[in-house]
Amino acid sequence: MMQTEHFQIRADVHTHTVASTHAYSTINEMAAAAEQTGVSLLGITDHGFGAPDAPHRWHFHNYKILPRRIGNVTMLYGVEANIMDEFGTLDMNEKELSFCEWVVASYHTACVTFERTPEKVSQGYRMLCDNPAVDVIGHPTTAMFPFDYEPVLKLFKEAGKLVELNESSLVWKPGALENAKTVYALCKKYEIPIVVNTDAHYSGLVGKTPVAEQLLRDLDFPAKLIYSLEPERIMELAAAKRGIRFTE
Ligand SMILES: [Zn+2]
Ligand SMILES: [Zn+2]
Repeated sequence: MMQTEHFQIRADVHTHTVASTHAYSTINEMAAAAEQTGVSLLGITDHGFGAPDAPHRWHFHNYKILPRRIGNVTMLYGVEANIMDEFGTLDMNEKELSFCEWVVASYHTACVTFERTPEKVSQGYRMLCDNPAVDVIGHPTTAMFPFDYEPVLKLFKEAGKLVELNESSLVWKPGALENAKTVYALCKKYEIPIVVNTDAHYSGLVGKTPVAEQLLRDLDFPAKLIYSLEPERIMELAAAKRGIRFTE
């Protein structure tokens, strides 16, 4: 881990706005907060259709009208899609995902009905790896979705999926911090790239990741595996995959 005294993510690419009704800030408020905290790349990723309070599908279709930059912050307009079953099925199809510039895929208890055994959750993650639209595996540390960490994390790396370290989960989800100690120790061992995201549902939380920082320090986690410290690497991924032009 880098020896700087303060760990500041420069990319926060999983956040929510008022488009999800359990989040409380607008895009402009989120961007202003990002600029204040030192985040130069902000990902807006409101919930996919499977979530009870997801925005209407027009929300994603209309992303084209939004600016690439707000103040000094570069924007990525994406989605937190829901993994709906043990087969890795997302709640948005290929066409719908094509309107999004960044795709986090996550399991949420409100969106699934299958029995959440490690075998089934692992299978869901394995099959999800075949979906080229997915960029990030969202909060893979919640106790409600146990999986076989070692083989599945290695598969995420092979499939080019970034593994998320999610500050909100560490703070709010029972068991997530304990699971995270195992998950990110394995990421270090197998050199699996990660992104540290706030999953902020309020502007005051953008860019702030003290619990994740402590965890990474305790693990002596290599900075080179943390994409959030180098927004350029995330922009390169998005540009290569979707032809997004960041310099205009
Ligand atoms: Zn989530
Ligand atoms: Zn989220």
